[in-house]
Amino acid sequence: MRAWALLLMACCVPAAAQAPASPPPTTQAPSTGGPEDVPPDNRFDTARMESSLVVPRTSVSHFRFPVIDAHSHDVYTSTPEQLTAWVRLQQQVGVQQTFIFTGKSGADFRAAVERYTNVYPRRFVMFAGISADGIDAPDYGDRLRERLRADVRAGARGLGELTDKGMGLVHVGTQAYFIDDARFDALWDEAGRLHLPVFVHIAEPAEFYQPADERNDLRRSANWSLYGKGTPGFEGMLARFEAVIARHPHTQFVAVHAFNLANDLQRVGALLDRYPNVQVDFAARMWELARQPFTARRFFIKYADRILFGTDNDPTLEMYLAHVRQLETEDEWFWPADAEWWRGYGMHLPDNVLRKIYRDNALRLLR
Ligand SMILES: [Zn+2]
Repeated sequence: MRAWALLLMACCVPAAAQAPASPPPTTQAPSTGGPEDVPPDNRFDTARMESSLVVPRTSVSHFRFPVIDAHSHDVYTSTPEQLTAWVRLQQQVGVQQTFIFTGKSGADFRAAVERYTNVYPRRFVMFAGISADGIDAPDYGDRLRERLRADVRAGARGLGELTDKGMGLVHVGTQAYFIDDARFDALWDEAGRLHLPVFVHIAEPAEFYQPADERNDLRRSANWSLYGKGTPGFEGMLARFEAVIARHPHTQFVAVHAFNLANDLQRVGALLDRYPNVQVDFAARMWELARQPFTARRFFIKYADRILFGTDNDPTLEMYLAHVRQLETEDEWFWPADAEWWRGYGMHLPDNVLRKIYRDNALRLLR
């Protein structure tokens, strides 16, 4: 047993069981507060451990209220049969509508519309992307506006998912055009005029820009690492996105994955306070909330009008129900969706908060 655990046990003996004048324990607590006696070649993977914890587990089968999944992609199905199976699964768990981010424009976007909305018109909401065509031409801004209007005529209800992790929002040859490049201002402006929400994936968690060594708590996901790739880094990318948001106060932005700051909800809150034209989702970041259920619960209650529900994951029953468990129950030490190496805890959100994040906020965004 670890030394600190023994110390904890010694401290937690009920007062009545202690000798009346027992001297204070002489053992010193470790100065760092972390676990001791870890082997020097520490390579343990807690994900493989079987939990011996015995606690109640809620039986969940569907969402408590109707849901709009405001973050999914067209890549999760490739055949009509898969699409039908997905729709059946949505009906089973209570997902009424799903936002499909295509990231595509023009003919590619129209093909996606044909595959989704033409078959299930009320179930899927389509989002277009950006085209790099003519990016260095002087009329690129006008072309962006025209293409967006054409995509809207083809069924686009917004832009998404537009991604800049530090390699450019658009990449042509070796040239990266970052999100705050003035060439894109026309697009943000046109989206604002047309009241179209813009879903932006900025950066990645800050740990992905650091070496994936033993000290990095996201090292398990080193396949996502951007370390040494010559990016402006997490802070650099966030600053670029903030510049865009500030320049276009009449455009509605959704910072997906909560600005990739789900590990620091206080900072997410400060950004929401500063920029009323921004909302967030925690799609594919539920694992980050799972280790801070009390902080996350307070955040969701405080910002209940600014959070969209999204999954951003392969549509499986297990995935949807992991969201139900985490948002609706008090269950403990379960695997969240898309888990990192730690398990987590439920947030047991109030019904009025669930209704807003599950559906009301998304409906308001589409109006
Ligand atoms: Zn996504």
